Amino acid sequence: MAIQRPKGTQDLLPGVVEQWQGLEEQIRKICKEYGYQEIRTPMFEATELFQRGVGETTDIVNKEMYTFLDKGDRSITLRPEGTASVCRAYVENKLYGGPQPVKLYYIGPMFRYERPQSGRFRQFHQFGVEVLGADKPMVDAEVITLVWDLYSRLGLKGLEVHVNSVGCPTCRPEHKQKLQEFLEPHKEELCKDCQSRFEKNPLRILDCKNPTCQEITQGAPTTLDVLCEDCAGHFAELKSLLTAAEVVYKVNPRLVRGLDYYRKTAFEVLVEDIGAQSAICGGGRYDGLVQEVGGPQTPGIGFAMGMERVLAALKLSKEHEDEDAKEFLMLVALGEKAQSEGFAIISRLRKKGLPVSIDLLGRSLKAQLKAADRVQAKYAAILGEEEINKGIIILRDLKLGEQEELSLKDFEEQVLKQYKEDGN
Ligand SMILES: [Zn+2]
Ligand SMILES: [Zn+2]
Repeated sequence: MAIQRPKGTQDLLPGVVEQWQGLEEQIRKICKEYGYQEIRTPMFEATELFQRGVGETTDIVNKEMYTFLDKGDRSITLRPEGTASVCRAYVENKLYGGPQPVKLYYIGPMFRYERPQSGRFRQFHQFGVEVLGADKPMVDAEVITLVWDLYSRLGLKGLEVHVNSVGCPTCRPEHKQKLQEFLEPHKEELCKDCQSRFEKNPLRILDCKNPTCQEITQGAPTTLDVLCEDCAGHFAELKSLLTAAEVVYKVNPRLVRGLDYYRKTAFEVLVEDIGAQSAICGGGRYDGLVQEVGGPQTPGIGFAMGMERVLAALKLSKEHEDEDAKEFLMLVALGEKAQSEGFAIISRLRKKGLPVSIDLLGRSLKAQLKAADRVQAKYAAILGEEEINKGIIILRDLKLGEQEELSLKDFEEQVLKQYKEDGN
């Protein structure tokens, strides 16, 4: 029986992989422009990092991690997200000792044991940004503007940013108390998850997708009602900076991130989906996280986006794929002598940066021309023993169906000239 790839993984084949390359290129370009540098951390880490850095009460840590013992009996986990690793690297490499802030981005695979369903993979890919060592609202605004700008450039439609402030250890206890008082009479009606959240983490009840819970929390006190002076000032400044940057945003008090180390700003970017809006990027400020993984008290903010989700939203046109697969010239060589001569020509043209190829299967003229058509080559150059003896080569324009004889001597120069004239 043939071996199949593991459930929830995918092979990205030519024709699709170009879309990934295009997205990655855009990401790298915009990060460079905004002054963010790439960081690459290991794909697996000590399990404890995620228990502390993602939170033991989260679904990710409770249900979805790929955890195993290695041969040295260490508990290892395939990274389910990027932020904890970046914070660990910041501490371990003492990046806090250098110039601040440290502005980083990452692109790479993440792993979660989820029930595979449409658009959800066990190995999926994220692009994320983290800024460490700066707590001003302008940092939050810059991070949100970066993702807004990226999505605008990609051509995503119906974009909207949702922002909220979840407060800080000064103002959150008051909110927790008020929320518990509000929910107390309905405690038994809440879903099971929310009942267990009631004591530990009632803030997350606001975020529950269960319709009954959503109904109960209508009119519940939000963190915005109780923000301390520091948090209120930060949020007001963020909103005015987003307005200045022409980012379309909406305040959404139900947007919460329940873990203790989340502070102040939480945000999501929504995109027009089939008939509705859906979140395509989530992020927030995590001023307590670096300390949580053993470093000095350091403010931080970041976001992550699933690249599969973004590509699905883009539904890049078929046309785009074809364009990427285009070759400029296919060298059709017939016979051994022409093949070795052709290979030498192709090698020289490739050194000059031309997208050219040669038949690798020793096929007939007809089959080779068909192959040239398939890769959408603009030209086919036909070379047989007779042509070599006469010192010529036939250049055929595959679009126009016209052909001309060129001297073998001038051929490469002419092709190069044509390539440049075509706007390359
Ligand atoms: Zn506060
Ligand atoms: Zn609930």
